[in-house]
Amino acid sequence: MAPGATTRARCHNRTQVASVSVPGGAFGRERASLGHGAHAQRPGPGWWAADLSHLPGVGPASVRRAAAIGLRCVGDLVEHLPSRYLAYDTARPIAGLADGEEATIRVVLDSIAVVPTRRRGLRIVRARVHDDSGTITAVWFNQAYLLDLLQPGDEVMLRGQVSLRPQRQVTVKAHEVLGAGASAGVHTEGLVPVYPATEGLPARRLREMVDAARPWVRAAPEVLPAWIRDRVSLPSRADALVAVHFPRSAREPRTARRRLAFEELLILQLGLIAVRRHEEVARRALPLGPTGEVTGRVRDALPFVLTAEQERVSRQIARDLARERPMRRLLQGEVGAGKTVVAALACAQAVEAGAQAAILVPTETLAEQHLRTLDALLAPAGIVPVLITGNVPRAERDRREMAVATGTAAVVVGTQALLVGGVRFRRLGLVVVDEQHRFGVEQRQALAERVGGGADAAHLLYMTATPIPRTLALTAYGDLRVSAIRGRPPGRRDVATRWVREDRREEAYEEVRAELRRGRQAYVICPMVVGDEAGTAARSAVEEARRLADGPFRDFRVGLAHGAQRPDERRGAMAAFAGGDTDLLVATTVVEVGIDVPNATVMVIEDADRFGLAQLHQLRGRVGRGGHPGTCLVFAEPAAEEGGRRLEALVQTNDGFRLADIDLDIRGEGSIMGLRQSGPTDLRFARLSRDRRSLAQARRIAKVALARDPRLEQPEHVLLAAAVREAFPDMPRLLDA
Ligand code: ADP
Ligand code: MG
Repeated sequence: MAPGATTRARCHNRTQVASVSVPGGAFGRERASLGHGAHAQRPGPGWWAADLSHLPGVGPASVRRAAAIGLRCVGDLVEHLPSRYLAYDTARPIAGLADGEEATIRVVLDSIAVVPTRRRGLRIVRARVHDDSGTITAVWFNQAYLLDLLQPGDEVMLRGQVSLRPQRQVTVKAHEVLGAGASAGVHTEGLVPVYPATEGLPARRLREMVDAARPWVRAAPEVLPAWIRDRVSLPSRADALVAVHFPRSAREPRTARRRLAFEELLILQLGLIAVRRHEEVARRALPLGPTGEVTGRVRDALPFVLTAEQERVSRQIARDLARERPMRRLLQGEVGAGKTVVAALACAQAVEAGAQAAILVPTETLAEQHLRTLDALLAPAGIVPVLITGNVPRAERDRREMAVATGTAAVVVGTQALLVGGVRFRRLGLVVVDEQHRFGVEQRQALAERVGGGADAAHLLYMTATPIPRTLALTAYGDLRVSAIRGRPPGRRDVATRWVREDRREEAYEEVRAELRRGRQAYVICPMVVGDEAGTAARSAVEEARRLADGPFRDFRVGLAHGAQRPDERRGAMAAFAGGDTDLLVATTVVEVGIDVPNATVMVIEDADRFGLAQLHQLRGRVGRGGHPGTCLVFAEPAAEEGGRRLEALVQTNDGFRLADIDLDIRGEGSIMGLRQSGPTDLRFARLSRDRRSLAQARRIAKVALARDPRLEQPEHVLLAAAVREAFPDMPRLLDA
C-alpha cells in the first residue's frame, strides 16, 4: 500500500506551531522560507512537517511526484523506509582491481563519447577515467543522455563489473557525479538503501532526496520520554532513522526498525487503551449486579457442569456487568467451545437486574438456532426469548417489537432486522454480538445506544469463533478486554484430519460410505458454487453434487446447499440434512456458521488450499459434535508452498489458537487488521509476526504511562500525546476525558 493511503495527515493539519529550527547551518535559504507560516507545523521541532521543497536540490517536479506516492513533507520522506540494501564496499584504487569482480572506484573523467555499433538500437557510451593509481575505460549501455550529464574533468564514482582482459574496462551499473549536491557515495558505496519507488520517482531520486534531508534526520525529535527509552534500551528516534537510511553495518537497520516498530506499537496501544477508557468513563450503562435469582435457576437446570474455563470467563463477565461503566469485552472460543451458555448466563444476569438483553447474529439460520438454544437454557427461569428477523411476518413482528418496547420481552434474538427496524427497548442492559466481525462498527454501536432506562450505553459482549492470536487481538481489539475459552467441553474430541492425495480418492470415498452405512452423515465442501470459466480445476458444488450422486454415492441421498440458492431452497436443503433426510450434503462455506448436525461425522473438503486456515478449522468444527469421533479429509494439490504449510498445520493440530498463530506467520497480519474499530488501519513499521515481543512490551508500557500521566500532559509526554492524537484523528478528545 502506498504510504499516502494511510490516514496520517501530519503535514497539513497542525495547528500548534512550535518554534522552527533547521538543523545544520548550511541551509540558510531553507531556514528563511520555513519561517513564513504557510505550512502548519508539527508540534515540537517544526521541520518535520516542512514541505519537501525546502530540501536543497528538490524542485517542483520531485515534490509533485513524491506527493503522488504520499510523501508530502520531510517527516513523510524520512519515514519512508528502505525495503532493502545493496551491499557495496568502499571505493578502491584502479590499480588494485581484479578481473571479474564488482567494485566501486572514485575517478576523474578524461573523455566521453558514444561509440558506433553495428547492432541497431544499441548505443554504447565509453569514457576514459583515471585516479592516482591508473586508468580504465568505463562503459554504459544505452544511456546516451550521459553525454549531457558528464563532462571531462568531472569527479565521479562508479560501481560496476570489472574486466581486465582483453581490455581494462568497468561496465557501470551505478554512477554519481561528485559535487553535484548529494553526498559522495550515496549510490555507489557501502550499504546503499533501496526505497520502494514508483515509476515517476525512481529509487535513485528518493535516495538523493533522503540524502538531502540528512541533517534533518539527525535532528529528528524524540517522541519517547527518557523513562521509556531506559526501559526498552533502544536507540533514539534520530539514531534509528539515521541507521535506517545511512547504515554503517547490516545490523544497524534491524535494531533501528525495532525501535520504530516499538514506537508505532506503543502509540497504537496508548490510543486503544485511551479509547477504551474514554468509553468507560464517558458513558454510563445500567449496573447489572447479580442477585443469583435468575442466574441460579439457569445454572441449576444446566444439563452439564460448566468447565473451569467457562466459569472463569463467566465470572469476568459477571463482574463487568455489575459496573456502571459499559463493558466492552470480546469472548473468543472455538466453535463448540461453549460460548452460548456463557452468553445465556450474562443475559440471565441482565434480566435479574431488571434489564433486557439483545443478541445480534449475522444470519437468520443462526438466529433461529440461538433462539432454540437460549429458549432451552432460559426456560427454567421462566424467560421466553423472542426472535426478530426479516422473516417474521410484519404483524407478528410489530407485536414482538411492542413487547420489547414495553419490556415484557426480556431477551431478544435478532439479525440486522433488529437494527434497521424501529425496535426500541425499555431498559436494554446488555447486547451480545455473535460473530461480530460480520457487522460494521456503526451497526454494533447503533444497538448499544438504543438503551433507554436512563443509561446511555449498553454493556457489549462480542463473541467470535475465529481464534485470533493474542498479539493480533491486542492490536486489532486493543480497545476491548479479551477473554478466551480455550479447549472444548468434555466429551468433545479432536477432529482427526488427513490430507488425501488424488490417487487415494477412491479409498477415501469408501471410508465415507462406510460411515454413511453406519447411519452417520457427511459433508462435502467445495470452494465454488459453479465451475468458473477460467477452467481451473476447482470443484464446484453444483457439479460435484451431480457427480457424486450419479457415481460414488449413488446409493445414498445427496443434498446441495450453497449461497447462490434462494434462501428458502438453501434452508430446505440444510433442514433436510439436519433432519436426516439426506446422507451427504454437498455445500459451499454456507455451512461454516450456523449449522449443527450432531450426526455428521465426516467432512470432505475439496481444493482445500483455496481456503484460509482459520476457515478450514472452522469448517471441520462442524463434524464430530454428537459424541461420535469426527474425521476431516482434505483434498488439495496446492500450487504454492504456502498452501502446503497451511494444510500440514491443519493436520497436525486441533488448537485453533495455535493455528491462528501459524496463519499469522504464513500470511502476515494484513487481512485481519481491517477488524480494528479505531485508529490507523495498517502498521507501517511493525510486523506482528516478527514484533510479538515488542507488542507485549508496548502494551505494558502504555499502561504504565497512562497510569502515571492519564492524559499524557506532562512535558515529557507532549510529543507522545501528539503522536497518539495524530494516529487517532477521529478521537480528538481521547486524552481529555
Ligand atoms: P459455541 O457457541 O462456542 O460454538 P456452544 O455454546 O454452541 O459452542 O456449545 C457447543 C455444544 O457444547 C452445545 O451443544 C452445548 O450444549 C455443549 N456444551 C457447552 N458447555 C458444555 C459443558 N460444560 N459440558 C458439556 N457440554 C457443553
Ligand atoms: Mg456459537
